[in-house]
Amino acid sequence: MPPKIQAAPGATCLGVLKHPAIGIRIPELFLPGILGAYKQRNVAGELMLSFGRETAPEKVIRAKPGVWEITRGHTGTSIKKYMTLGAREAQKAGVTVEIEADHLIVIGSSTAAVQRIAGYHAEARISPEELKKSLEYNRMAVDEAVATGLVGCFTTDTSDLFWLEADRLSDDRVRRLFAERFKPEAAKKLLRRYRTKRTFRAPGGKSVSVTISPLQAMRMALKFHHSLKINAQVYRYCKKKLGRKPFSFEISLDETADTTSPRETLFYLTEWKAMGLPCHYFAPNIGFEKRADYKGDMTELEKRTRQHHAIAQSVSGALLSIHSGSGTTPYSGKGKNTYEAILAATGGQVKYKISGVYYELLLELLAALPPRSEGRKLYNHIFDAVLKLVKAEVRQGGPLAQPLLIQQLNKYARQVARNPKKKRDSRADFFRFNSYLALNMRDGKGKRYFRDALVQYVKGDKVFRAQFDEQVKALTLRLIDGMHFADNL
Ligand SMILES: [Zn+2]
Repeated sequence: MPPKIQAAPGATCLGVLKHPAIGIRIPELFLPGILGAYKQRNVAGELMLSFGRETAPEKVIRAKPGVWEITRGHTGTSIKKYMTLGAREAQKAGVTVEIEADHLIVIGSSTAAVQRIAGYHAEARISPEELKKSLEYNRMAVDEAVATGLVGCFTTDTSDLFWLEADRLSDDRVRRLFAERFKPEAAKKLLRRYRTKRTFRAPGGKSVSVTISPLQAMRMALKFHHSLKINAQVYRYCKKKLGRKPFSFEISLDETADTTSPRETLFYLTEWKAMGLPCHYFAPNIGFEKRADYKGDMTELEKRTRQHHAIAQSVSGALLSIHSGSGTTPYSGKGKNTYEAILAATGGQVKYKISGVYYELLLELLAALPPRSEGRKLYNHIFDAVLKLVKAEVRQGGPLAQPLLIQQLNKYARQVARNPKKKRDSRADFFRFNSYLALNMRDGKGKRYFRDALVQYVKGDKVFRAQFDEQVKALTLRLIDGMHFADNL
């Protein structure tokens, strides 16, 4: 049974409900506009940050510079802070929200987690020590979230534990390894779950059929076994910590190099259910890339999404959760006709996540201020510091120096050479992809000087503040209206 919804102002568990989910990287600055939009459209929505990257426990946020990677908790906003601030401001604004612990990633390092966003998928397997450390870290993060008494949803991501080699094994080897790794009784039961072709009802009177052959089932069993097992451990830990308090559970498999196949969704959710576990939201990789409009075939996107939606609904009663929902600019949604395709495929029953775009919007507005103004100078400092840091990374061959970054830096250099006005262009790709690092740059005393300066500047300049709140609200309304989220309770 999905949890029941409490529609009072403040934090609750929304259960299975269509809604927007928004990352509040600098809650002090983003909440007024976001909550204003929720209020205006009578939307119960989510406020979140990703545990694998954006936020971290207080202990990590307060640690001396250099103790943790710059990418960990890179917003400088702790779990406790965004949860309590989000709930308090929502209550004051008379808005019902859910506070989500997003993207609990089980992975070797937070740098690897960040590399994945830039399209780099290391295929090195996590070592047992790394796994143990990652699980310990995630438990510490869950503890802090639970202690606030506010968390209503957890999203896990154990896609780093997929055994991708299983896709490349010969048929014989799949049969042999499956027989070795699964006890006869469990193997028999597993294969029995996929004996027949399955047909699922989809929105608009359509239907979706999926067949999984015994060999395909064995291959996927090898591929997903570890991920399923560890995911279940994380679920059970959350459940134990929350006791009788209701919460939603979201499984995300989206940060993979390839799109998720409908067969994989059927297999993963069927096995999850066979363990007796609930899934309220499911996030397959539907071909979206972070910080980019969707440029692929729209008919294919709609078809793919319809398949995943129908399967998730029927197997687990879950809604799809669309990740990487931001587009190329704060004004482009996810590109022309993309929202419409998602709406048609899901009948509008969907959860949609965006995060980084609010910070991009802030930087764009600062970049547009007059050259000698305080806000513009702050923007220039941030731009130069980010450029310096990523250049040093490339020079030293640091973990952020991926091919994509080098490509983006070369492109920026070419653009500036051709047109000097492109200097410090807030839409330069290297900057859009790495500007988040500025929030976690720290001085000798550990002060996050850019984050502090941004909060101080925006709060101190009434005219800019009003303009920014209005733009944050408008951005949020574009998502709410584009995805038909109004009056969702
Ligand atoms: Zn995701």
